[in-house]
Amino acid sequence: MSSVARQMAGIPAADLQSFTEHLKSCRRIVALLGAGISASSGLPTFRGAGGLWRSFDATSLATPGAFKSNPGLVWQFYSYRRHMALQADPNKAHYALAELSRRNPDFITLSQNVDGAEHRLSQRAQHPAGQLHLLHGTLFDVKCTSFHCDYIRKDDYTDPLVPALDIPKKGMNFPSSAEKDSESDADAEPELDISNAQVPIPDLTPADLPQCPKCNGLLRPGVVWFGESLPSDTLDFVDNWIDEEPVDLIMVIGTSSKVWPAASYLHTARSAGARVAVINMDANDLAGRNLEPGDWFFQGDAAVIVPEILKSVIGEI
Ligand SMILES: [Zn+2]
Repeated sequence: MSSVARQMAGIPAADLQSFTEHLKSCRRIVALLGAGISASSGLPTFRGAGGLWRSFDATSLATPGAFKSNPGLVWQFYSYRRHMALQADPNKAHYALAELSRRNPDFITLSQNVDGAEHRLSQRAQHPAGQLHLLHGTLFDVKCTSFHCDYIRKDDYTDPLVPALDIPKKGMNFPSSAEKDSESDADAEPELDISNAQVPIPDLTPADLPQCPKCNGLLRPGVVWFGESLPSDTLDFVDNWIDEEPVDLIMVIGTSSKVWPAASYLHTARSAGARVAVINMDANDLAGRNLEPGDWFFQGDAAVIVPEILKSVIGEI
């Protein structure tokens, strides 16, 4: 609680006041979310995956080529990420944005995260689905890799998806399975020891992995990998939405505003008069250095800052 109080005190009063005045006059608002908002829920950042995955360069697992050459390895990585995402709860920033969505039909949220936190929250908090757009897909969609098959299954929270992906029981480093093990078996080897012992990641064949019920082809995670295009229907929707009327405010939360397509949204909206608020933990982040006069920069934990700066419109979260 004391750290929260310190954080709130850390928002310069003049900035909070000028932001609040602008916010109250805003109609069309965009929030752009990145890994920083997930980090507030305790989710490891993409490059900071834990356990055995520490020895891997995560970016090398998030490519179509990696999946083609070793789908078993890539699926185990994504099964780990699904498992971790399911352990995490949405935080106050997620709830604050959902509340703003309910109150303002002209507010859209664009998430670059694939952990599904916003999406699961949208179901729990009735965040209007039409106001939430996932630019990079989600860990909880699966789709067929067969060229002629269009099978896609959305919002599948089964963990694990198939028995072979039940990685926690295979001795990988998951805090939740450690707790379960210690309850059921007091002699269980401490998980940290297992992790440090470099237990090899099991070799899985395509037959062990999730299969398409339509064509028996191999399913893959429904995320956008490096080298792949972002979903064109989502990009089209956002482009049209931003072009159709001037945007009043863009909130850039826990992400750099220099990465495409965020940079282009910012440029378009700003040239039509939008003001920009950057909420980021790291003042040295690119987003923080990319400010223009009239922008706001709120430094700190998104879960603390976002509810605080929206309070005048959404009330207490
Ligand atoms: Zn298929």
